[in-house]
Amino acid sequence: MGYTPTALIWKNGEWLDWRNATVHVLSHALHYGSSVFEGVRAYDTPHGPVVFRNADHIDRMYDSARMYGMDIPFAKDDICRICREVVSRNGLRSAYIRPFAYRVEGTFSLTPGADAPVEVSVAAIEWGEYLGSGAINDGIDVCLSSWRRLPGSAAPVLSKAGGHYLNAQLIAGEAQRNGYAEGIALDPLGNLSEGSSENIFVVHRGRIYTPPLSCSVLGGITRDTVIELARDSSLDIKEQPLPREMLHVADEIFLTGTAAEITPVRSVDRIPVGQGRPGEVTRHLQAKFFGLFSGETSDRWAWLDPVMPTTEHETAPNVDAATTPALAGEAG
Ligand code: PMP
Repeated sequence: MGYTPTALIWKNGEWLDWRNATVHVLSHALHYGSSVFEGVRAYDTPHGPVVFRNADHIDRMYDSARMYGMDIPFAKDDICRICREVVSRNGLRSAYIRPFAYRVEGTFSLTPGADAPVEVSVAAIEWGEYLGSGAINDGIDVCLSSWRRLPGSAAPVLSKAGGHYLNAQLIAGEAQRNGYAEGIALDPLGNLSEGSSENIFVVHRGRIYTPPLSCSVLGGITRDTVIELARDSSLDIKEQPLPREMLHVADEIFLTGTAAEITPVRSVDRIPVGQGRPGEVTRHLQAKFFGLFSGETSDRWAWLDPVMPTTEHETAPNVDAATTPALAGEAG
């Protein structure tokens, strides 16, 4: 699954042509996984594009860095602004935005200081359904992974750090080799944890369950969104450790993530979940979630961060006119 390059990437304070946004082969992050990143979505709405829960994602990125003792050399507000601008400057109406911070070259030491400083970049691409075309409507087939999530005693799993995604690659890779869209991993104690890059929810006898943060899950922003939306609909929702058997007695299962949005699971290890198709609770939560962008769900949480039109940046003081191409069909 590739992507189409966009015009501009922001790198450490400058807007660069996509091809020129490069790092040195001896970058610390490339050798040791010392990067932290976010995946953020921008949605088109009747009032123009918005970045969804922008500040919450950037807060998590700074927390991720903090867990690894990385100082990000920019203010959070600046990175939030760049996440809005990367959408409009690239003429996008909806996008997957990737802000990330990483240690660059300068040393082979595992504990670098100023000799391998932290840089920050922000890119954006257009991206449709992460788990395959039709996944959100029809649901996906998943398996239980033979790989477990990392224990919190071995790594701070709440950190969205580059190095942690070697474990995620094993989970997703094994699943795909065996013909599944995704793998569900257990935590080191054998409780349900999450997918390679999605949190999991299980509906059983009218109640919605999701594993707590102590079960080696990432504190997903979509997970939090779903919990809020469920409470807003007076649905019964509970965070608690879940045994793997819940996968087999569940009436409904769905996965959440910025990329995966709310994706129903229709089978686990070829055993149908409930009726073998997306259930009522999943459909209801999907409608509320996507309703935030169509305007049908009112945004009483102030989750939508409007992207301003490109023309407004062109008069902004920090714009380097030489690297800012005139964009056709400006976002509005
Ligand atoms: N778990 C992992 C391991 C992930 O990588 C992601 C994607 N960021 C999620 C859960 C879902 O998090 P979010 O809803 O914030 O995208």
